[in-house]
Amino acid sequence: MASYTPPVEDMVFLLSEVFDFDGRMAELPGFEEINSELAATVLEEAGKFAAGVLEPLNRSGDEEGSRLIDGKVVTPKGFKEAYRAFADAGWCGLSGDPEYGGQGLPRTLQILTDEMVSSANLSFGLFPGLTRGAVEAIGHHASDELKATYLPKMISGEWTGAMALTESNAGTDLGLLTTRAEPQGDGSYHITGTKIFISSGEQDFGGNIIHLVLARLPDAPKGVKGISLFLVPKFLVNADGSLGARNPMGPGALEHKMGIHAQPTCVMNYDGATGWLVGEPNRGLAAMFTMMNAERLFVGIEGLGVGEAACQKATAYAKERLQGRSLDGARPLVPIIEHPDVRKMLLTGRVLCDGARALSVWTALQMDKAGRHPDKAERLAADGFVALLTPVVKAAFTDFGFETAVISQQVFGGHGYIREWGMEQFVRDARITQIYEGTNGVQAMDLAGRKLPMEGGELAPRFFAAIKADLEAAKGVAGAETIVAETAKALIRLENATAYLLARTADPAEAGAAATDYLRLFALTALGWCWTKMAVAALTGTDRAPALARKPALAEFFAARILPQTLALEASVLAGPKTLMALEADVI
Ligand SMILES: Cc1cc2nc3c(=O)[nH]c(=O)nc-3n(C[C@H](O)[C@H](O)[C@H](O)COP(=O)(O)OP(=O)(O)OC[C@H]3O[C@@H](n4cnc5c(N)ncnc54)[C@H](O)[C@@H]3O)c2cc1C
Repeated sequence: MASYTPPVEDMVFLLSEVFDFDGRMAELPGFEEINSELAATVLEEAGKFAAGVLEPLNRSGDEEGSRLIDGKVVTPKGFKEAYRAFADAGWCGLSGDPEYGGQGLPRTLQILTDEMVSSANLSFGLFPGLTRGAVEAIGHHASDELKATYLPKMISGEWTGAMALTESNAGTDLGLLTTRAEPQGDGSYHITGTKIFISSGEQDFGGNIIHLVLARLPDAPKGVKGISLFLVPKFLVNADGSLGARNPMGPGALEHKMGIHAQPTCVMNYDGATGWLVGEPNRGLAAMFTMMNAERLFVGIEGLGVGEAACQKATAYAKERLQGRSLDGARPLVPIIEHPDVRKMLLTGRVLCDGARALSVWTALQMDKAGRHPDKAERLAADGFVALLTPVVKAAFTDFGFETAVISQQVFGGHGYIREWGMEQFVRDARITQIYEGTNGVQAMDLAGRKLPMEGGELAPRFFAAIKADLEAAKGVAGAETIVAETAKALIRLENATAYLLARTADPAEAGAAATDYLRLFALTALGWCWTKMAVAALTGTDRAPALARKPALAEFFAARILPQTLALEASVLAGPKTLMALEADVI
């Protein structure tokens, strides 16, 4: 059975032919030397590690799972060694701050690497992914002393990170959390409480585990305005940087869950564990949002990664599995890829994955620009795009990833339901990405209720203007007519839906009722734009690799078979909240 092939060729096509990576890097101080040739080398190596080391552990990791034995987490066979090899090869610090030992490479390369790691082994990818999110929050909000103590070893991968927000009564509504932080008078705090669902809360890779924990100070106001953020290490750190006493904290249990079995999702008890404040008292949620925004993008990429891996397996299977006659009846037995319905499934997965990858590259390029462009106005403009796209990437890519996993499983028929083929694992694993890091419903409300009104309602129209400019430029390109025309229609629908919502910001039921349909309408239109750009690059560019020659045909499929969904989505948004709110709760 075919194993995962890292889509490096497609990634390099996106960088060099679609998004002018070299030109964009040349504008960013410190990145002038970075170009698509270097990117190709990094991505080739990352792909080799993902396919050669991480993928072989995916199925065995799922079968074996992480276990809790005598209060200690035991990860599946091979995970410890793979993690150490990953860290030793420098992958943990790929985009990390060079001041603390990172390689300081662009986010764009980080996101593409994350995709390959997620395709190969979602459970594994959470370890470095969460550590990076924690590094980001510490880097932005912690004191210089905390940064100097913790960042180098987290960026090198010697120590891992975890984020501890959720409690049994505080999930989406973090204002309800009750974990306490008592000041000790020496700048430290004692943290007491129980958190649930904590990914990578404990591991057996060695080193330290740095938890970022949300808790309440004694005099904190109720709700989200009374939450502070604390850095709580598994081992206290001595002045010379060595590991000291064990902090009173640990996993009370591992969650039994549908997927990502290799990942130790912990119930974490903090029994007066020593921690240090990160950022301002009572402003912990704002500080945690640095981590959460980074993680939201990462989780979107996780969804894409699983979808890509599932789609690849289904495509290979469909070329080998013989069932049924050819359409003209001439051949009694043909590979199932010849049947139109199977093709529809495979092509749907392919256009969602390739389209999402393109949008992920554009978003990551905005992050690089927001971090480094010499012109402040350009930095702010790029930052606005990242804010707008973050919920879209998180929710739409994880929905697409799950949908692709399901249709890829369907391509296998009954064999997709049987464990040995690995397709049911993709479905189980992909499902969590739609739930954690803020459910997709919550992401949609963030887009419709919070992001749309930003910049006086001009943020989304600014994004639409970028799409329009590219559609205009693509108008004369022979072979791209259908994708240009259908994306233009989808954009008009999205603009209508946006205007509808912006005119009704006073009524929160409007945004709440429209949110998930609006987010999908937004995402499909953005993918239409990306498919336009890919088709134009393939039709007019110099890169003639066979995998890229198929892009214009895939763009036509996207235009003809996927973009029409935007018609129904617009109608659904414009229907408003009336039908949702008409029934009393007790009769639903
Ligand atoms: C495997 C796994 C790993 C996880 N890892 C971590 C981790 O590392 N760290 C961590 O802190 N947490 C983690 N979580 C927790 C995860 O982020 C939460 O489960 C998630 O945010 C939802 O919270 P909840 O489960 O309490 O659901 P609830 O908040 O109870 O939500 C239930 C439903 O109601 C909807 N809903 C809730 N409030 C609203 C609202 N105001 N408007 C509209 N709809 C609403 C939700 O969208 C959802 O559909 C993990 C969870 C799992 C299962």
